[in-house]
Amino acid sequence: MAAEADASRPPADEEGDQCLREYRHLFSPDILAGQVAFITGGGSGIGFRIAEIFMRHGCRTVIASRSLQRVSEASKKLVAATGQQCLPLSLDVREPQTIVSAVEEALKEFKRIDILINGAAGNFLCPASALSFNAFKTVIDIDTIGTFNTSKVLFEKYFRDHGGVIVNITATLSYRGQALQVHAGAAKAAIDAMTRHLAVEWGPSNIRVNSLAPGPISGTEGYRRLGGKFAEQSSLFAMIPLQRAGNKTEIAHSTLYLASPLSSYVTGTTLVVDGGSWLTSANSFSAMLDVWAAGAN
Ligand code: NAP
Repeated sequence: MAAEADASRPPADEEGDQCLREYRHLFSPDILAGQVAFITGGGSGIGFRIAEIFMRHGCRTVIASRSLQRVSEASKKLVAATGQQCLPLSLDVREPQTIVSAVEEALKEFKRIDILINGAAGNFLCPASALSFNAFKTVIDIDTIGTFNTSKVLFEKYFRDHGGVIVNITATLSYRGQALQVHAGAAKAAIDAMTRHLAVEWGPSNIRVNSLAPGPISGTEGYRRLGGKFAEQSSLFAMIPLQRAGNKTEIAHSTLYLASPLSSYVTGTTLVVDGGSWLTSANSFSAMLDVWAAGAN
């Protein structure tokens, strides 16, 4: 294998929900100075690292999910590592009133919100034949409807009058009909559609709306639940053009690009951050059924 070029060498990451032990800025360290980001699902996984990277670039953050304990513990780590402010809040993206309360509290604290990251989601492997009606609906409720609810509350409470940036964290699952993922694939495809609709309607209000679709990202709940370990052990990542899983810092860097003025003319699109994975990875129904049957989910 050829030596890894700098431009595709992964930045450092930590396995769990821990802050980076060291960090080398690639973007200007003050690129988000003075701004505030509201991050749903910011207490864990990809959302946690997005919060950390944003804070390392001068941003204050609100991290919000159902478990106040989870976001409070995450907030302590983020503040200690970055020296920036981070407000942990509880909300359920399926319940608009809880979003309204959280956004009002965030505005009371920071007086502004510049960026919304819709990262809250739920997922698991399950063949369509075994998926209950309720399980399908729950994923649509959290991912798709939750993204709409949160975007609409932010629009009404702040973005309509001040502009803003929305980044929806989606997935590549629907591109090739990923096995055992009809629920999440359908939910995320609907969000990518919502990205384009809202970019068109809200562009005149100086609101940019984009999606970011990660591939398999190590050190996350999604990776653990969706067969990432199995793929690792079976050398399946050799099929990916860049021949590896991605890491959370890489997703956070791409999200930083979309949230920052570096992408000032980018709206209504989906940035795929997957090392080329969806183009070449196996989409084997029978192999994934084995993973599901072995209880890897
Ligand atoms: P994760 O750590 O499980 O993150 C999901 C977050 O959503 C949790 O912090 C959870 O916190 C929150 N959440 C769930 N239901 C909620 C609700 N009803 N209201 C508010 N918050 C809720 O997973 P992750 O793997 O890092 O994934 C993060 C995002 O990346 C997701 O959108 C996922 O679909 C996407 N993604 C991940 C991968 C991957 O390889 N990991 C690949 C493609 C896409 P609470 O339990 O406290 O509510």
